[in-house]
Amino acid sequence: MSKRVVIVGGVAAGMKTAARLRRLDAEAEIIVLERGPQLSYGACGFPYFISGEVKSMDSFDHTPQGALRDSNYFAAVKGIDARCGCNVQKIDRMQKCVHYMEKGELKQLSYDVLVLATGSTPVKLPLPNADAAGIHSFWFPWDVEAVDKEIAEGGVKDVVIIGAGFIGLELAEAFVRRGLHTSVLEQQDRLLPQLLDEDMAALLLRDTKNPLLDIFLEERAGAFTIENGKVSGVQTDKRVIPAQLVIVAVGVRPNVE
Ligand SMILES: Cc1cc2nc3c(=O)[nH]c(=O)nc-3n(C[C@H](O)[C@H](O)[C@H](O)COP(=O)(O)OP(=O)(O)OC[C@H]3O[C@@H](n4cnc5c(N)ncnc54)[C@H](O)[C@@H]3O)c2cc1C
Repeated sequence: MSKRVVIVGGVAAGMKTAARLRRLDAEAEIIVLERGPQLSYGACGFPYFISGEVKSMDSFDHTPQGALRDSNYFAAVKGIDARCGCNVQKIDRMQKCVHYMEKGELKQLSYDVLVLATGSTPVKLPLPNADAAGIHSFWFPWDVEAVDKEIAEGGVKDVVIIGAGFIGLELAEAFVRRGLHTSVLEQQDRLLPQLLDEDMAALLLRDTKNPLLDIFLEERAGAFTIENGKVSGVQTDKRVIPAQLVIVAVGVRPNVE
């Protein structure tokens, strides 16, 4: 009898595992359970949609030939049973089965091999007014669409990005390309603080000079200011930086719940 492999999480690690496994074993039953609405999308390109270099969000979840990488595609082309809207809530290791919710119904699925590819979720800053309109993470496709829509609607002139890591800096470049005044706020003393030593970070800082870009190092966000329920700025320990759009890019936590 062929073995059943259940994979929890259907984006990068989960779908890559499924595809590689199919190439290694034509007989295995491969089932992917993804709680979200989308499979196998490439988040790495999201900042380039904001900058306009990538023209369509379809680029992130379609094949180069234009096929949407959804459940039908994976069933027909790869022989993989990938199901969206399935939130795994419990692993029963004794019985070798997972319990998951699908459309409000609790279901069970047995496995021979279980793969956890559950990824991570952006950290939220527990600051006053953090839930105000105009404050976003930049992680899921719907974050990208919301940010792009707010800019396209024309009400955004100033953006504050909290966090000078990869996502913060890629987005800073993208916003400047869109002609927006952009401030990057970083509590540590350098850009890309997890990656660069002081001397290399100083070279990067030298090369980021742009009239549309302000970088504030060793400065912490303490609160968001609001007007009519919408963000109007970021209060730091030194000033208030005006913003109609704020991106919180301060890292992620693993989905281990
Ligand atoms: C803007 C941006 C730019 C990036 N740029 C780069 C880059 O240039 N280079 C690079 O290497 N990486 C980059 N990354 C990071 C890269 O996209 C991630 O490392 C990658 O998506 C991780 O894949 P993953 O499959 O491990 O997790 P995820 O993509 O987080 O997928 C995990 C999936 O598991 C699902 N899940 C979680 N728990 C459950 C559950 N209980 N039941 C069912 N499903 C569940 C989640 O819904 C999620 O869809 C970037 C990310 C972003 C957002």
